[in-house]
Amino acid sequence: MTTDDPLPREPPDMASDRGNEVPKFQKDYEGGKPSETWFTELDHAVIQEGRCIQCSTCVAVCPVDTIGVDENGLPTQTKMCIGCSRCWDFCPRGGLRYERQWKITGGEDNVKGAGDPIDEHSAKVRDNWRTNAQDGGLVTAMLIRLLEEGKIDGAIIATESEDEPWKAEPLIATTPEECIENAGSFYNQTMALEYLDYRSIEDTFPEMNLDDLSLAVVGTPCVIEGIEALQDFEWDYGSHEEGVRAIEYTIALMCTKNFNYYKFVGEQLEEKRGIPPEDIKKMDILHGKMMVWDHSDEMILEEDIENFHNAALKGCDECADFTGYCADVSVGSVGSSDEYSSVIIRTETGQEMWELTEPELDYHDLEDRSAIGGLQNWDKKAAFDALERPFDPDAPRFFSYHEHAEEYGVDPNPYDPSVKGEPSSSS
Ligand SMILES: Cc1cc2nc3c(=O)[nH]c(=O)nc-3n(C[C@H](O)[C@H](O)[C@H](O)COP(=O)(O)OP(=O)(O)OC[C@H]3O[C@@H](n4cnc5c(N)ncnc54)[C@H](O)[C@@H]3O)c2cc1C
Ligand code: SF4
Ligand code: SF4
Repeated sequence: MTTDDPLPREPPDMASDRGNEVPKFQKDYEGGKPSETWFTELDHAVIQEGRCIQCSTCVAVCPVDTIGVDENGLPTQTKMCIGCSRCWDFCPRGGLRYERQWKITGGEDNVKGAGDPIDEHSAKVRDNWRTNAQDGGLVTAMLIRLLEEGKIDGAIIATESEDEPWKAEPLIATTPEECIENAGSFYNQTMALEYLDYRSIEDTFPEMNLDDLSLAVVGTPCVIEGIEALQDFEWDYGSHEEGVRAIEYTIALMCTKNFNYYKFVGEQLEEKRGIPPEDIKKMDILHGKMMVWDHSDEMILEEDIENFHNAALKGCDECADFTGYCADVSVGSVGSSDEYSSVIIRTETGQEMWELTEPELDYHDLEDRSAIGGLQNWDKKAAFDALERPFDPDAPRFFSYHEHAEEYGVDPNPYDPSVKGEPSSSS
């Protein structure tokens, strides 16, 4: 590291058994300085290209809190960028080779089929509140047990916006009641890692020493990939530092694609199909169909999911992580009969979560593993078609903007050097 390095950062833990790969900005030196990649490049190659999957890793990683979230839920530059390259390095549609992250987190098994989990079940909770849940209520049940046992102080989940029906926003739930109230699936991203900011955490836990904080996170697989990558390094993540370190439990919701709220709920459902969001009680994606029920539990829409492709996040096409390889536990509906969740226990931590929750459950062996494996394979194949770079779990974890620019055919030099550090007008 150069002595004029502007960042107060520590080297990565080279003794870690999670690999000793180092982001480009630490490794490449140009004229004695770390190579510089700016938010402008991330903006140009990922956000403006419509490839952002709203995982919010870039917001959490920035050491000087330069990246915020705009009114469209996209990352935006809010103040001076110092060109440290981290937002580029850790973006799963930018410099982070996500399949390498799977392997670093979970080993060789994580790059085959649906992985090689510790255990798999079809399960549902026995409690009455399950009617609020999307499937078997497993996610909510696990969070409740973690809270009841004092294993966590809070869980980052999704809650419905007060102003816009069916729009998900992040919430740190601290009680079982809050978890139950917010059970169910929302089909948009929440940019949840923004919520790891110490100000949000201090608001929720005003009395707490943040070094003692323990959190669970529920998210789509890409969000969990980002968390795992962040936790593998010991740099200071600015105001998100304590929040990133506090995450001890991760639950991935199986996911083939997520949506832009306005395009999906506004254009596709309300404008095109005459279904206003207030009329919707539940939505689900299953067996390749988008399904919608009204408040009298009548199914008012069952249509091929491909018809909603224009409302999906374009960057999801490049995602091969249907089951959430980096999570402690993955939960979905495919592979189990109605009212049951499919639960994949991937780590010892996941096993602990299962053992805490098991007395509350009706469960049996996973009913249809091949259904999950089949969807995982379909998802991978679609990603291989969409990715414009080689899919290679053995290649280095980080690749540079310039390598990306070559593979994706974007401008290798998108900024005017004379305005480096100024907020970009485009985002
Ligand atoms: C975008 C998306 C796509 C999905 N696609 C599939 C699929 O193709 N196949 C499949 O088998 N399963 C899919 N799932 C998972 C499925 O819908 C259920 O979430 C899962 O089975 C868990 O059900 P449950 O009853 O155990 O969870 P619940 O007990 O209902 O709890 C769900 C938890 O997830 C939180 N949550 C809901 N939406 C979000 C969100 N967008 N971001 C972060 N947290 C959220 C809720 O606040 C709640 O805490 C998808 C989920 C999402 C959000
Ligand atoms: S994909 Fe994630 S890391 Fe990349 S720009 Fe979007 S929010 Fe940031
Ligand atoms: S399909 Fe992949 S990239 Fe898109 S939201 Fe789901 S996990 Fe994230």
